[in-house]
Amino acid sequence: MRLLRVGPAGAERPAIVGPLGHTLDLSAVTEDFGAEFFSTGGVDRIARLTRADKLRLPQLDVGVLRVGSPIARPCKVVCIGLNYADHAAESGQPPPEEPIVFLKDPCTVVGPNDVVLIPRGSVKTDWEVELGVVIGATCRYLEDEAQASAAIAGYVVSHDVSEREFQLERGGQWDKGKSCETFNPVGPWLVTPDEVQRSDGLHLWLDVNGRRMQDGSTKSLIFSVPFVIRYLSQFMVLHPGDLINTGTPAGVGLGRSPTQYLRNGDVVELGIDGLGTQRQVFRRAD
Ligand code: ZN
Repeated sequence: MRLLRVGPAGAERPAIVGPLGHTLDLSAVTEDFGAEFFSTGGVDRIARLTRADKLRLPQLDVGVLRVGSPIARPCKVVCIGLNYADHAAESGQPPPEEPIVFLKDPCTVVGPNDVVLIPRGSVKTDWEVELGVVIGATCRYLEDEAQASAAIAGYVVSHDVSEREFQLERGGQWDKGKSCETFNPVGPWLVTPDEVQRSDGLHLWLDVNGRRMQDGSTKSLIFSVPFVIRYLSQFMVLHPGDLINTGTPAGVGLGRSPTQYLRNGDVVELGIDGLGTQRQVFRRAD
C-alpha cells in the first residue's frame, strides 16, 4: 500500500493510492497516520479494505492539493551517519565500525514538495537523499533481525538536509546542523513492506537544478535496515511512528571538488525507485 497525507500543513487528511491510481481520502475510515494509528494496527485495518471499499472513497486531487509528510508528528527522528562507504570516504572519514547515531528534531519533518529554508547565516546548506524507515511497533531490546524486520511499518523517501558549518565547525555534536527549520522533507508516500521486495536493493538519486549529484543503491549500506533497528533498540526504545534516516550515499555538496552548497532559489529533486519523488525550492529564511 501507498499511504499519504494531503492538505494544508497541520490539517492533512490521511489518504491512500487506490486501485486505479487515484488518491483516495481515508479520513472517514481512520485517524491520522501518527503514533496512535501505527500502535493500534492501523496499517492492518487499511489493508483489510476491499477494492470495492476503496472505490467508494472520495478522490483527492494531488495535482492541486499539497502533499504532506505521510507520517504525522513522529516521536523522534533517528539518523545513521556515514552508512555508505563512498560517502564516508568523501567526508574524509573511515567507514564506521559501529553505527554513528544522532537525533534530528522531529519538528523538522515537512512535506516532500514544501519550501526548505536556508537558515540565517548559513553558507553550507547541503543535501542528503536517504531511505527512511517508519517504525510500526515498539522496539525494545530486540533479539534478532527478524524481530526488527517485523517492526517496520513502511519505507519513505527522506531528505536529511544538513548545514555543514553548523554541523562540523561550530563545536559539539552534529545536531545543530541537522535540526534547522524544515530540514526533513518526507514522502510522498509511506510504502508498506509488502510492496518493497528488498530494502537493500533500492536505487536512490538526487538532482540539484537538474544536474545529477547522488546516484546510489541501498545495497551499499554498511549497516542494513534490520541491523540498524535491532542495534538502536539496545540503546533507546523505538516507538510506532518514529522515523529512521538510514544514511546517504556519495555525492553531497561537502564531498564535491570544489564543494558546492545550496543557494536561494535552487531546486532539489530526489527519489527512490518505488517510493516516489520529491521536489523542493530552497529559500533563504526571513
Ligand atoms: Zn543523513
